[in-house]
Amino acid sequence: MEEKAPVKKMYKKAPRKKVCAFCQEKVDVIDYKDVNRLKKFIAEGGKILPRRMSGTCAAHQRLLATAIKRARIAALLPFKGE
Ligand SMILES: [Zn+2]
Repeated sequence: MEEKAPVKKMYKKAPRKKVCAFCQEKVDVIDYKDVNRLKKFIAEGGKILPRRMSGTCAAHQRLLATAIKRARIAALLPFKGE
């Protein structure tokens, strides 16, 4: 949990630039059946990690979200919790 700074927000300097994992691999399509990969982008509660945490670019984040949603429908990933 982050405390909200009352006066000025201090931004942490990122030690290194996060690069989208899918861009690095030049992935065009994210397979919803690739559960092991999708799991890396899901928080413990079953939620999709926000971009600023995963470093995924906007385009891939969208593909990822779609893939995760499909995986949920296919019962490969949980909707919420375990
Ligand atoms: Zn990307």
